[in-house]
Amino acid sequence: MSIPARLENLRRRLPENDLDALLISTPENRRYASGFAGSAGYLLVSKDDAALATDFRYVEQAGNQAPDFRVVRISTALDWFTELVADLRLRRVGFESHGVTHSFHQALQKAVAEMEQADRPELVPTRDVVELVRVVKDPDELDLITRAVELADVAFDSVSPGIAPGMSEREVAWELEKTMREAGADGLSFDIIVGSGPNGALPHHRAGERVIQDGDPIVIDMGAVYQGYCSDLSRTIFVGRPDDTFREVYDTVLQAQLLAEESAAEGMTGVDVDRVARGVIEDAGHGGEFGHGLGHGVGLAIHELPTLSPRGSEDPIRDGMVFTIEPGIYVSGWGGVRIEDMAVLEDGRARVLSKARKLDLS
Ligand code: ZN
Repeated sequence: MSIPARLENLRRRLPENDLDALLISTPENRRYASGFAGSAGYLLVSKDDAALATDFRYVEQAGNQAPDFRVVRISTALDWFTELVADLRLRRVGFESHGVTHSFHQALQKAVAEMEQADRPELVPTRDVVELVRVVKDPDELDLITRAVELADVAFDSVSPGIAPGMSEREVAWELEKTMREAGADGLSFDIIVGSGPNGALPHHRAGERVIQDGDPIVIDMGAVYQGYCSDLSRTIFVGRPDDTFREVYDTVLQAQLLAEESAAEGMTGVDVDRVARGVIEDAGHGGEFGHGLGHGVGLAIHELPTLSPRGSEDPIRDGMVFTIEPGIYVSGWGGVRIEDMAVLEDGRARVLSKARKLDLS
């Protein structure tokens, strides 16, 4: 989808939120709405105007990447903002309450207070205005996400067969990172997690010095960034011959995941989809060992809307949403199993994007 179409979707949300304009400051929203990929700048989007304010380092890049925006060079503090607000006669200007620092908010208030009384706008805190547009991916975004997914899949499938006793978690993480980079990843979605043995019970353990031993389950969680878009993939492997405990836990997690993937349908809420997987894990007696939500949206950010969890949103999932399905069981002192795919909702059903191998324990 073109930037003008995204802007149109965004502008439709202004009156819904009773706003004349929205000041966009979070990096992902800035990139989504304008195409500008630089690391500093603000967008001010109103019904008839779209301005991108950035400093001298980025003026040229902004002009190239965001042709639908008027590029304004930031000279001193917030003069650009107060001048635009006065010129455009904006009365209610939203800002991203979840995306600004306290000091930026103070500076914004001060700048507004120093404006001529007649020009002063009301600053309105908002949440998730752009995020709720971004939650439905357009075909261009889905292409980039698919590529990011492939990069993680290929790296996992090429590196995992070589994981053997004697390697450290860190070495495994580095092999995965190197392989993704060489295949074309621009970066990592997050530091790769390699949780071997008991470390697998810590859902967000990174990758440390522990040396992998025969009989270890290993949770691997990784993702690539491709042209700004993230992927997220978890697989659990076993070093040596899987024992009965591992088989039972792995099989339960896999059944929970497959059922959630088959069942996810347009109109269900994130709470509903989570409940499907959680039910399988509870029925197997592991209910207390699945301590996180089933999944989250993925796009320009590694964690975004929708939220699939017991405390997730009551908003139904819709076609075009991309999210993870990642049930897990974590047993303190023993280890963990997490299996994570990414899926897109299409024609009302989930189409699984992740193709990295899963264990065949039969
Ligand atoms: Zn995830």
